This record gives sequence, C-alpha cells and structure tokens, in this order.
Amino acid sequence: MEDRIAIVTGASRGIGRAIAVELGRRGATVIVNYRSSEDAAQQTAALITQAGSAAHLAQADVSDFAQAEALIEQVVTDHGKVDILVNNAGITRDTVIMMMSEGDWDAVITTNLKSAFNCCKAAVRRMMRKRYGRIVNISSVAGIAGNAGQTNYSASKAGLIGFTRALAREVAARHITVNAVAPGFVLTDMTADLPDNIKDGALGAIPLGRWAEPEEIGYAVAFLASDEAAYITGQVLSVDGGMVMG
Ligand code: NAP
Repeated sequence: MEDRIAIVTGASRGIGRAIAVELGRRGATVIVNYRSSEDAAQQTAALITQAGSAAHLAQADVSDFAQAEALIEQVVTDHGKVDILVNNAGITRDTVIMMMSEGDWDAVITTNLKSAFNCCKAAVRRMMRKRYGRIVNISSVAGIAGNAGQTNYSASKAGLIGFTRALAREVAARHITVNAVAPGFVLTDMTADLPDNIKDGALGAIPLGRWAEPEEIGYAVAFLASDEAAYITGQVLSVDGGMVMG
C-alpha cells in the first residue's frame, strides 16, 4: 500500500487502532482520527511508525458535518488525495427501548451512521477526481441479526449496510469500491464492561468458540482496502467466528 493515503476514523483505540496499524504495516500513510483520546491516538501513531509507515494525528468529531469535511479537506491539502477511508468511529448507548431516551437514540445514530455520510460525502468527491478509492464501513453483527438492548446501535449498523450498498452502486464507475465489515464480539473498551452473563452467552453463540482479536478485523479491512479487492464492492464481510452465516 505504498503511496496510499488512508484515513481511519476513531483510530485512537480498539478496532480502529488495529485497522490503522495494519494499513500502516502494509505501507500506507495513515491519518489517525480521534475525538478526545489524544494520548491513545499518539500510541496508535507510534505503532504505525514502528511498523515503518508515516502516521499523522487528526482530531475531529466526525459526527459533525463541518468537522468531517474539514478533516478530509486537510488531508487532501497535506497529502494531495485520499485513497482509503475507513469509517470506524462508533459508540453504544445500550438499553431496552422502554428506557431509551431520545438522546441515546440520536447520539448513536449520529455517531455511527451520519459520520459515515459526512466523511464519504467529502471523500468521494476527491476520490472521483482520482478515479480511485476504497471505502470500508465498520458495521456489526448487530446490524444483521439485531441485538436486544441495542435498537439504536442495531439500526445504525443496519443503516450502514444499506448506505454501503447504495454508495457502491453510485461510485463504481469511477473505480471506487465501498464495502462493510461486520465484526462479531471483539474485546475492546466498548465491550469490556458488558456483564459476565452477556459475555458468556455471546461465547455460546460463536461457533469458533472465542472472541475476535481487534487485529483480525484489521486484516479483513486491509484486504478490502487493497488493490487486490478491486472487483469486490457492495459486500458485507462478517468477521464473527461464524455467528451469522448465509
Ligand atoms: P472503542 O474501543 O470504544 O473505540 C471507539 C473509537 O471511536 C475511539 O477511537 C473513539 O475516539 C472513536 N470515536 C467515537 N466517537 C467519535 C466521533 N464522534 N468522532 C471521532 N471518533 C470517535 O470501540 P471499538 O470496539 O474499537 O469499536 C470500533 C467500531 O467497531 C465501532 O464502530 C463499533 O461499533 C464497531 N464494532 C465493535 C464491536 C466490538 O465487539 N467491540 C463489534 C462490532 C462492531 P476517542 O478515543 O477519542 O473517544
């Protein structure tokens, strides 16, 4: 991926960090976006540098339209283009619908779904000019199968799948591919505080019998972001240990 400029949103921690490091390991220059965890983002950048590639920090709340546009604009100003965009930034506000506030709903939909619109809208314009682009949206098994206590999150992740397929059709003629990766359970800050009974229950539903390492999501994303994946678009790649098949 030498000469490729990649942006990973929410790359300070967890899955985003693993994706950013894997893209760096493959030679891409990586823009490490984060919202508030600057120290953690610096650690991500250090790992990319250790892997032999350039990394640049970029603070932005990508759920904010203007900040997302400014993020992409800055990358194009500094590096001349954006080749790879990974929409990874995400949050949860889990509770059953009876307890879910309007704020819980809006925060999750805005962060998980609108962010992808914000970043894609800005990036696609630049990718079209270059007639090249790789967009990977991080969905979830919850967006395919649904998850009790996560109506907001499941809706946002299902929305990302529809968004991925529609955008893939819009931009295919310009050699831009748009795919989604749907992880199952991955041990990160997002899942660390889940109650033990939920964690154990999840384990029972995973044919491979274990949670994913963040790096395993990174490998799948890096493949879809590579030149080798040029003939794959509009697809959802589940990386879930076999939780959802078919
Ligand atoms: P995480 O450890 O909680 O990390 C979330 C990342 O998103 C952080 O880097 C955070 O930045 C960033 N972020 C949140 N809101 C943002 C915003 N408005 N603008 C920019 N960055 C923002 O989560 P994770 O588990 O790695 O999850 C990463 C993605 O994978 C999410 O989309 C999640 O839904 C998805 N996913 C996770 C799992 C799982 O089991 N963990 C399963 C399926 C899908 P700061 O550090 O600066 O706050």
